Amino acid sequence: MGKALLGRKGNIIIGTLESKDIVTEARRIHNTSPTATALLGRLLTGAALYSLTYRGTRPKLITFELLSDGPVKHAVAQVKGNRLRGYVKNPEADADPRGGKLDVASIVGKGILRVIRDNYVSEVPLVSGEVGEDIAYFFYQSEQRRTAVGVGVLVGEYGEVVSAGGFILEVLPDATEKEITEVEEKLKGFSVSRFLQDKGVEDLFRYFGGEDAEVAEETDYRYDCWCTYEEVEKLVLMMREEIKEDKVVARCTFCKKEYIIDLGKK
Ligand SMILES: [Zn+2]
Repeated sequence: MGKALLGRKGNIIIGTLESKDIVTEARRIHNTSPTATALLGRLLTGAALYSLTYRGTRPKLITFELLSDGPVKHAVAQVKGNRLRGYVKNPEADADPRGGKLDVASIVGKGILRVIRDNYVSEVPLVSGEVGEDIAYFFYQSEQRRTAVGVGVLVGEYGEVVSAGGFILEVLPDATEKEITEVEEKLKGFSVSRFLQDKGVEDLFRYFGGEDAEVAEETDYRYDCWCTYEEVEKLVLMMREEIKEDKVVARCTFCKKEYIIDLGKK
């Protein structure tokens, strides 16, 4: 379970999420390298925060996709209600840490961030490959929203997830110089994964909002795949020509659940 809080203080909208359990489950399923764990964790956290801070009726399905030329090749995070799932094409992709941090940008490389809300698709070029900045750039380019986005995963010595989470701070058009400066000050040198090492999502919300910020919504997100026989069968049928057997064992990309697909009757 990962708890998320949405609220506002003056003209700043604040969304925060603690996602350690979600990222731990993603790592367990996909057996990701430390750097790939950080990448997938950041993308899942960012997608959930996007859903949390969505204006108006939330899309039924939100997909965040990184298509890039680095060793990880392709990363996907999806949100359906409060359920999340994701995968990376090459979970073994790894890199040496840089400046004491996992070097996510170097396994991502150059490419695009594609965001799909139901049938509506937007694409922006990656500005850093570190995920947080790329999501903020997407907000600005595609939705004309000024945000600061921080997503972070701290991975331990044995590859385990020590802490994970993120925030979205959205500066509304009526925000004053004072409000903007206050936000900028809080962001200086701030690491969300370090913060969540010994503090919770409420502390994170209070760090940005102070005592008087109001929580408008509380949501529990979880990694919980929604695959079905039909969904997996559809993918198998797309490769029909290459399959000689009547029955094949196909695995869901997101949760590794196995399905026996009977092609004989099709
Ligand atoms: Zn699945």
